Amino acid sequence: MNRIDKHKLLFATILGLIGFTVNLYPIHLFANVQLILGNVAYVISAILLGPWYALYTAMIALSGLMIAWDSLHVYFLFGIEAIFLGLARRRDIYALYANFGFWLILGMPLFYLYLSQFTELPNGHVAFISLKQGINGLVYTSIGSLLIILTPSFWHFKDKIKDIQRRTFNAQLTYTFSLIITVTLLIAALMFNNQFIERHQSLLYSNIKNSADNLAASTQSYLDVHSQAITNAAQWLSLNDHGANEEQILLSQLHANYPGFITMLLADEQANIIGASPASLLRQHSTHTPLNIAERDYFIEAFINQRTFTSPLFVGKGFGNDPIVAISAPLYHPSNVHEPIGIVEGSLDLNQFKLIDEIDKHNEHQTMLLIDENMRIIYASESLGLATLSEFNYSRPSDKYISPYPMINISQNNEMAPEYVYASVTLTNGWKLFILNPFRPLAKLVENMYLATFAILILSLVIAIYLSRVVSSRLTLPLENIANKFSTQSNKTDIDYAVDNESPKEIFSLFQRLQQSKSQLIGYQLELEEKVAMRTVELEHANSQLKALAEKDSLTGLYNRRYAENKFAEVQELCQRSDEVIAIALLDLDKFKFINDTYGHHSGDLTLKAVAEQLLYDFKRNSDIVVRYGGEEFLLIMPLCNALKIEEHLDNFRQRLAKIVIENKEDNHQFNVTTSIGAVLGNGTYSTSLEDWVKQADINLYQAKHSGRNKLVFTTLSE
Ligand code: GH3
Ligand code: MG
Ligand code: MG
Repeated sequence: MNRIDKHKLLFATILGLIGFTVNLYPIHLFANVQLILGNVAYVISAILLGPWYALYTAMIALSGLMIAWDSLHVYFLFGIEAIFLGLARRRDIYALYANFGFWLILGMPLFYLYLSQFTELPNGHVAFISLKQGINGLVYTSIGSLLIILTPSFWHFKDKIKDIQRRTFNAQLTYTFSLIITVTLLIAALMFNNQFIERHQSLLYSNIKNSADNLAASTQSYLDVHSQAITNAAQWLSLNDHGANEEQILLSQLHANYPGFITMLLADEQANIIGASPASLLRQHSTHTPLNIAERDYFIEAFINQRTFTSPLFVGKGFGNDPIVAISAPLYHPSNVHEPIGIVEGSLDLNQFKLIDEIDKHNEHQTMLLIDENMRIIYASESLGLATLSEFNYSRPSDKYISPYPMINISQNNEMAPEYVYASVTLTNGWKLFILNPFRPLAKLVENMYLATFAILILSLVIAIYLSRVVSSRLTLPLENIANKFSTQSNKTDIDYAVDNESPKEIFSLFQRLQQSKSQLIGYQLELEEKVAMRTVELEHANSQLKALAEKDSLTGLYNRRYAENKFAEVQELCQRSDEVIAIALLDLDKFKFINDTYGHHSGDLTLKAVAEQLLYDFKRNSDIVVRYGGEEFLLIMPLCNALKIEEHLDNFRQRLAKIVIENKEDNHQFNVTTSIGAVLGNGTYSTSLEDWVKQADINLYQAKHSGRNKLVFTTLSE
C-alpha cells in the first residue's frame, strides 16, 4: 500500500466526520424507509483518494448510521461499497456506473440475503427495501460526483486515478447527462412520493378517525337508548303493584318496543326469575326449580347497588350459552321507593354491532373492533377473524417503523412490519371501539412508486444515452470530417462534405477558419518556393564567384598557380592526343625590387596590374592561359600555338611592355618596367607534368637574366 499522505488523511477524516454527523439523522421518508445522505462523504473520498481512504472515511461516516440504525451490517455492506467505488475510480470507471454495477451485482443481493436471514420481514418487503437501498446508493453517489464536478478545487487530489484514458466527447456527455438525470429525477421523485404518501396517510387517518367517531357515536347511542329504556321500564314497573301475569305481559310489550334486546327478564328479591321475554324461555324452565341469578353481576349491581348497569361481555346461562351484554335496573316497592323488590334486565342483541359496522361498508379496507372494559372482544368485523368473547391481544410494531399515526399488530404478533393503522374511541362505559385499516396496501403503494421511479430512471438513462449520442455526433462527426479533409493524406480537397446544416455554428466557423488558413498556407508555400528559387540562383552565383576567387589572383585578376597546375593536365592531354605543340613562357620582371623601393609598394602593385593587362591583351586566344605564377613572375601556357610565330610574338610583347609608361597618380611618378622571358616550345608528349616544362623555361629565364635582362630566351624541346 502507498505511503499515507498527511493531507489526504486529514481530508478523509474531515469527510468522515461530516458523513458521521449527517448519518446520525437519516431523512425519514416512509415507515422504515430512510434517505441516507452522509454516505456522500465516502463517495467523494473514493473518487478523490482511492479505496483505502474511502474505507477509512466510510468507517467514520457509517458509525453515525450504526448509532441511528443500531445494526452492525452497515459497516460490512457500505464498507464494501466504499472499496468498490475506490477501485473502480482507480480503473477510471465513472463512479455512477460503478455504483450501478455494485448495487446490481453485490449490494442488493447481499442486502436481500441479510434482511431475509436476520429479520422477519415479508419477502416482498425485503425485495423492496433492497431496491430502495440501491436507489439510495445511486442518489448519494451522484450527489458526490456532482459535488466534485462543481468544486474544481477538489481536483488536485485526482492523482490517485491510474490508467487514465482519454474519453470520447460522447462518453463525457452521457455521464454528465446520467448524473444530472439521476440526481434530479431521484430527488424529485423521492420528494414528491414522500409528499404524496404523507398526504395519503393523513387522509387515510382522518378517514379512519371519522369512521371511528361515527361508529362510536352510533354504538354509544345504541347503548344509551337501551340503558334508558331499562331505566324507564324499571320506574314504570315500580309505580304500581302488578300481578305476576300482568308483569309478564308488560315485559313482552316493552320487548316488542325494543327489538335491540334479544331477551328480557324480571327477577324478584330472591333473584328468582319471575318473568321473561320471549315468554317461551321461562316456560321451558318452569317445570324445574326457578332460575336464580343471584350470582350475576347485573343482578348484584342493580339490586344491591341500586343503579342502572351495563355489564361487560359474559357467557349467558339459562337462556342459552351465548355471549351476552346485560343492562339491568332495580324495581322498587310501589309504596316504598327505597325498598328494592327485584330487577328488570335486557340482553343486548350483539348483531346490532354488525349493523353499525355496515354503516361503514363503503370504506372497504376498514374493519371495526369493539372491546369491553375487560379487553374482551364484543364485536369484530368478520375479516379480522377474531372470535367474540376472546381476549383482545395486540402488540406495537417495531419502533423502526416511524409513523405519525398509531399502528397496531393483532394477528402476527412477532411480525416486524406493522399490520394496521387505527383510530379508537372510548365509550362512556369503558368500552373501546377501534377502526383498523391494513398497513400493507399503503406499503404496497409506496413500493409501486419506488418501482415506477426506478423504471423511469432506467428509461431516462436510456433516452439520455441516445440523446447524448445524437448531440455529440453533431460535434464529433463534422470534426472528424474536418480533420480528414485537412489531413495531408486527403486528396479530395475540393469536396465540401465536411459540415452540413446540422453542425453547430462553432464547428462551421472552425471549418471556415481552417479553410482560410489552408489557402493562406498554400500562398505562403508558393511564396516560399519562389524565395528558395531566388536564393538558389544567388547562391549558385556566389559559389561561382567563390570558385573564381579560388582560381584567380585578386590583385591582377589572372589565374593563379593552383589553377594552372590543375588546368595543365587537361591541356596537355588534348595536345598529346592531337599531336599538337605547347609553348610555355616564364616571365620575371626585372629589378622589381627597385620599383618597390623607389616608388613604393603601391606603385609595384600598379606595375603588376599593368603587366597583367598587357599580357591579357597580347595573349587573348581562348586556349591561352595567363597565370600570375609568383610575386612578380608570370606564366604563359599556350597550347595549339603557331610554332613558327610564337617566339616573335613573345618578343614583341617584351618590347611593347618596355615602352609602357606606368603612372602613379597619387604622387605623379612615372616609370617603365621590363621583363626577362624564358620560353620553351615542345610537343604535347614532352611531359604530363607542368613542373618539367617550367623547369626548362626557368633555365632559359636564368639565361635571359644573365645576359643582361629584358631578353627572351626561347628553345625548342626535343623529346
Ligand atoms: P631581378 O631583375 O634579378 O629579377 O631583380 P628583382 O628585383 O626583380 O628580383 P627580386 O626577386 O630580388 O625581387 C622581387 C621583388 O618583387 C621582391 C618583392 O618585394 C617584390 N614583389 C613580389 N610580389 C609583389 C607584389 O605583389 N607587389 C609588389 N609591390 N611587390 C612585389
Ligand atoms: Mg623574381
Ligand atoms: Mg625580378
